[in-house]
Amino acid sequence: MSTPSRSRACEPYTQGVAGLIRREDIAAVRERARIEEIVGAHVTLRQAGVGSMKGLCPFHDERTPSFHVRPQLGLWHCFGCDEGGDVISFVQRIDGLTFTEAVEYLAGRTGVQLRYEDGGPTRPGGEHGRRQRLIDAHRVAEEFFREQLLTPPAQIARRFLAERSFDEEAAAGFGVGFAPAGWDNLLRHLRGRGFTEPELIASGLVSRGNRGIYDRFRGRLVWPIRDVTGDTIGFGARRLSDDDQGPKYLNTPETQIYKKSSVLYGIDLAKRAIAKEKRVVVVEGYTDVMAAHLSGVGTAIATCGTAFGPDHVRIVRRLLGESGDAAAGLMFASGVTRGGEVIFTFDGDEAGQKAALRAFGEDQKFASQTFVAV
Ligand code: ZN
Repeated sequence: MSTPSRSRACEPYTQGVAGLIRREDIAAVRERARIEEIVGAHVTLRQAGVGSMKGLCPFHDERTPSFHVRPQLGLWHCFGCDEGGDVISFVQRIDGLTFTEAVEYLAGRTGVQLRYEDGGPTRPGGEHGRRQRLIDAHRVAEEFFREQLLTPPAQIARRFLAERSFDEEAAAGFGVGFAPAGWDNLLRHLRGRGFTEPELIASGLVSRGNRGIYDRFRGRLVWPIRDVTGDTIGFGARRLSDDDQGPKYLNTPETQIYKKSSVLYGIDLAKRAIAKEKRVVVVEGYTDVMAAHLSGVGTAIATCGTAFGPDHVRIVRRLLGESGDAAAGLMFASGVTRGGEVIFTFDGDEAGQKAALRAFGEDQKFASQTFVAV
């Protein structure tokens, strides 16, 4: 098989789009970021000859892997859709980021301190760094919620957890927290940490009313929802008191970093087990994911307030690494089903059955063997 030439793979993405970040810092980011790890967070890669790894392309639908990564060259290329580039362009494509945002993301991962041509550091609320600011706001919010869970007003939240046999350690392990009642507890905390009003609105952590902005989550148990790389990008929040007029579950709204059609709760914890065991267990909610992981089912994930849709299928399929490659072929020959197993579990009630049927419809898109357990 031919290999991509460096110039051809790089050209569309890296010419003339360096923006305001200094050229040598961009080079340092590109050098330090390990492309197989960055790509590997989204796609299960397997060794494919000397110096090359392959997996299912995240940018087009396929059943046999034609997406190649060459770690030593720092390049990726798909022979199916003929896309390719370096680690920066991969992050741009997979997360829908600008060049500058992708460099900032990778700088955060690799510990490179970026300097800007205009002399300033990342300007809060400015065009560049916006995504990173939203991630930062979520990290601060998560810490805040976790601390609140230990305070007296959070007793109702701790009781909810205890009734479901989750102890303090389990709650901490999943980053579960408590959003206090009141309108501006988190808001004041985030303002105190330097976040601006436009950033707070963009984060989805606050809502906007006639009299200004206020905390979106109030008097609720909150679970941080993380992307496949482990960054917290949103929250799911459960009502605790009967006085609460809001919905039973309230999630982060659509934001630049939170797309409900593609978020999967638990994916950051489950991805390695999914790739290794070639199995994924889809359960119904946050507590089900927690219970599954704590009882040894490390492959459990759940959607966040939506049905299991086509975008979820694509993410899971890439992690399963469904393929006709040599390893899978051997498993097939020895009588084990090719590809992986996808197990849906749902409550036996009417809503649960409907969810199961909807999920089963999506199953046509899996090459995997699929089970639906109601
Ligand atoms: Zn492709």
